[in-house]
Amino acid sequence: MPRQGLMAATGVVLARARTGEAGLWLTLFLKGEGLLRASAPGAESGSVRFGGGTEPFVWGTFQLHRGRAGGLCLSGVDIADDMLPLRKRPESLYMAVRWSRLVKRFLPFEYPADALLANLYWNLRLLSAPPVPPAAADWRFLWRWLEDWGLAPDLAHCARCGRELDRAAWTEDGLLCTDCGRGAQGTRPSFTGEELGLLLQTTARDGEAVARAFEENVFLKKQEPLFALAARCAEGLLYEK
Ligand SMILES: [Zn+2]
Repeated sequence: MPRQGLMAATGVVLARARTGEAGLWLTLFLKGEGLLRASAPGAESGSVRFGGGTEPFVWGTFQLHRGRAGGLCLSGVDIADDMLPLRKRPESLYMAVRWSRLVKRFLPFEYPADALLANLYWNLRLLSAPPVPPAAADWRFLWRWLEDWGLAPDLAHCARCGRELDRAAWTEDGLLCTDCGRGAQGTRPSFTGEELGLLLQTTARDGEAVARAFEENVFLKKQEPLFALAARCAEGLLYEK
């Protein structure tokens, strides 16, 4: 963004912290900008200046300007999606907080990452959708993040011999078939071919189709432990990169 003057960008409040003078420090994730820190003076003093626009996970257009000391200051927010259904479900909110910590940990500040921002948006929407277990949204968010950064493993073929997988061990070198991953069996998380199919189905680009699949398929809804295990594996790849 320019060194001075006004700017406006769409995005989300990822986190906030109180500052001394009844104000807030916000961590914003904005389109074309990436992660930014901005102060929101007066936001805590009971004024309705920002109308709920400084709540974590609220999406909107944020207007910012450079303060006299050079830091960014929030001057207004047009809320596009208040994510209220998400913020009312404790387990969904817990997951959203987890994602915001991961983004802050792995994405450098002021580094535009619009695909990750869109991924975050659509999976926060899934967290608000009652039929989708938070663990499934977690897996989908992490896998699509890995895919965007070129780190996602092939879920259908052995990473070593290319054979179609009917059972696989998840290793740091990717998913290995029973022959290639013989040494890894028993010590690494393993998945059946059917489980890999469910995981693959949940990574589909169309989030609404994924939500519909969970709506229509009771069996899929009962796979929470599978999605939780796969999400832990996917998260491990972010730490290894
Ligand atoms: Zn193999």
